Amino acid sequence: MPVQAQDVQRLFLQAVISRPTVSITLAKALWEKSVEAVRAVDNTVNVNYSNSKDAWETFVIDLNRRLNRLDIQFLSSFDEITGKEIYALVNQKGDELAQMGTEYTAAEIAFFKAIVEQIMLAPNEAWSVSSLVALREVAHLKVNMTKSQAENVLGSLVAKGWLMSRKGRYSLTPRSVLELTPYLQSNYPNQMNECGICMGLVTHGIGCHTPNCKTRMHSVCFTKHRARYNQCPSCQVDWPNDATSGTLLPIGPDAARGGAAERRMTRRDVGEEDDDEEEVANGTPDASQVPKVEGKVKKEKVNGKKKKTKKDDDMDMDEDEEEEAEPTPEESEAEESDTGARRKSTRKGRGTR
Ligand SMILES: [Zn+2]
Ligand SMILES: [Zn+2]
Repeated sequence: MPVQAQDVQRLFLQAVISRPTVSITLAKALWEKSVEAVRAVDNTVNVNYSNSKDAWETFVIDLNRRLNRLDIQFLSSFDEITGKEIYALVNQKGDELAQMGTEYTAAEIAFFKAIVEQIMLAPNEAWSVSSLVALREVAHLKVNMTKSQAENVLGSLVAKGWLMSRKGRYSLTPRSVLELTPYLQSNYPNQMNECGICMGLVTHGIGCHTPNCKTRMHSVCFTKHRARYNQCPSCQVDWPNDATSGTLLPIGPDAARGGAAERRMTRRDVGEEDDDEEEVANGTPDASQVPKVEGKVKKEKVNGKKKKTKKDDDMDMDEDEEEEAEPTPEESEAEESDTGARRKSTRKGRGTR
């Protein structure tokens, strides 16, 4: 059967579908590979390709026009930590977390939702949950799940880019922020911590050090802003030269106070009604009432190292800077076995750019 120009899109999708996110560099390289593969079969096929920005944007627009019928879009966002542009296939339709339905059981999705809630309600702007508190969530599920099943689900969520695990804490990833923004906006409207510079959701970043100043930013957004302005746009306080000076407040896992006092949060803790949760009285002080102290801002370097192991696939390339969690051997197997089979049903709208 002869190849056609649209085979480029098909090959490209095959390459990106098994990845939680792709950096723009990788995405463009996969596009080029797809073009080469089609031309190798028939170099008379009229394929539009150049390495210009316009050509790339045209390719993405055309791709999305086709994906639109499936309520899926190939969207760009950026990594909150590195600031690098990333892309992901994002579902545009469906309710809540239905898009995970083909990968996870209803019980596993309920568990994931519970963890997302703990991340969104975390005190001290930690935007993360300790693995201890995450595992304790199984006790509050309306379905049965053992701790070891829960551990496996957590490992899988990390391997598939839904959660990030660092220093014993789980937080949101570029993939989950991109896909879950509509879900988060409708379920946690008061927790949508907006970057004062780019307006995106901040789950990893820094905050202005003036007491009561609400300015929160991604570290990379701070750096861009600071290159032109010396002061906080809200309170006009002078800011240090760089995000790592230690003066600014950490926002995200570095802000966690952790320790034995860490407990699960309910919506009531953040002043919202809680329809289906019972307050857990465990006698520990509410961490959110503890006065905040300024902490050191550490800009963490992301050490991505995992390489894909899929064989016989010249489309399969990864860059060193790609951040990926390292799954345990059994998770790799699980991921391997359903590579390419990641189908999701979908969702509506999105909030990240
Ligand atoms: Zn920002
Ligand atoms: Zn300020």
